Amino acid sequence: MAVITKKIKGTEDVLPKQSYRWQFVERIMREEARCFGFKEIRTPVFEHTELFARGVGDTTDVVQKEMYTFDTKGGESVTLRPEGTAGAARALLEHSLANEGLPIKAYYLTSCYRYEKPQAGRLREFHQFGVEEYGTSSPVADAEVISLADSIFRRLGIEKLHLEINSIGCPECRPKFNAALKEYFGAHRDKLCGNCLNRLEKNPMRLIDCKVPSCHEIAQGAPSILDFLCEECEAHFEQVKKYLAVAGIEYKVNPTIVRGLDYYTKTVFEFVSDAIGSQGTICGGGRYDGLIEQLGGQHLPSLGYAMGIERLLMVMENQGIEIPAPEPCALYIAGLGDAAQVKAFELIAQVRSCGLSAEGDVVGRGLRAQMKYADKIGARFSLVLGDNELEENRAKVKNMTTGEQTELALDESFAENFASLQLSASFEG
Ligand code: ATP
Ligand code: MG
Repeated sequence: MAVITKKIKGTEDVLPKQSYRWQFVERIMREEARCFGFKEIRTPVFEHTELFARGVGDTTDVVQKEMYTFDTKGGESVTLRPEGTAGAARALLEHSLANEGLPIKAYYLTSCYRYEKPQAGRLREFHQFGVEEYGTSSPVADAEVISLADSIFRRLGIEKLHLEINSIGCPECRPKFNAALKEYFGAHRDKLCGNCLNRLEKNPMRLIDCKVPSCHEIAQGAPSILDFLCEECEAHFEQVKKYLAVAGIEYKVNPTIVRGLDYYTKTVFEFVSDAIGSQGTICGGGRYDGLIEQLGGQHLPSLGYAMGIERLLMVMENQGIEIPAPEPCALYIAGLGDAAQVKAFELIAQVRSCGLSAEGDVVGRGLRAQMKYADKIGARFSLVLGDNELEENRAKVKNMTTGEQTELALDESFAENFASLQLSASFEG
């Protein structure tokens, strides 16, 4: 196939007959976010490369291997966003949002770009719903953001998602943990992958996360962060667990969750599904108390997470969760002859202005073909306009399910009368 009719590897199209599935999920995300007091933030699809190097962390897989980075004609290095937090944090700083009262609660629904090996649940262009809560160090906020994710999953009817939580400490307790990790992994140096050898000095916590089987096996015996937490981190973690219990949210503590991005501190968590194979992490996030400072701002403890919409839809499909299909066309008006077509066009506009969907012929088909099309789109009512109807200024609207016909005047009352007709039919149906 010619290149121009083939999409780029690792990207997907959402076709008109499928998009309602996305819209449904996105609507629920927006509604739940609103209930929790989060407002949408939209940031550019590309940013200065330096933002991600600093914000996401230059020892991470994302920055080292997965970014779409290119030089602009002006010679600037820019990168397509691999995640949503860095851009949101940049916007917070650029617009001094912290002066507008804390906390700042924002959510985003965006595309992200990572140069990864495409497979089920792993794309190069994918979509995330994410939330950011800036300016709070309280464990209540940790429980709040987790509750929001949980509410979304509940509303979508998703079952059997496990919430796994961990604390990865703070700059106070992390150095001791890192030293213990260096010692442990150092003793297995000869069996580590090249990447891990590099990271051993710079960021040994990354080794716990390595997906290379031999490293993964060694990581199973690594020291647990939970034995190294300082008093403050431990107390924080206890409070998070307490509030999750109050919210009735079940969780499991998993000390091997360290998250792939460098900015995390204290709480980290994942919602994992067994239903879709190895790419089972639907949602991941945590606290990033040092991020804003790292980007040159004030100390502003913050937290958030992102969920992958493609993976979420995969789980829903796998669990047979039905997504309500969109309403079909309410009224199809077929016209026979030029004058009837003009009248049809006028009536269709009238119906649409009442907020109902109406369609007519835009192809130039004969009556039979028009009615076939009305059938194909599942129109709930149809109306045929011919010379007689125009003369009498009245026509019969046909309920396509029951066959019942109702005569309506073709004047300015038409749309309103049709609206009540279809309303009573939908009550009966
Ligand atoms: P993974 O370990 O699966 O690579 P990650 O830790 O890199 O995930 P995050 O950066 O935390 O993922 O992103 C949050 C969520 O975004 C993930 O839990 C997942 O649902 C989704 N996600 C991440 N990368 C991809 C991708 N390449 N394709 C589809 N969804 C993705
Ligand atoms: Mg990844």
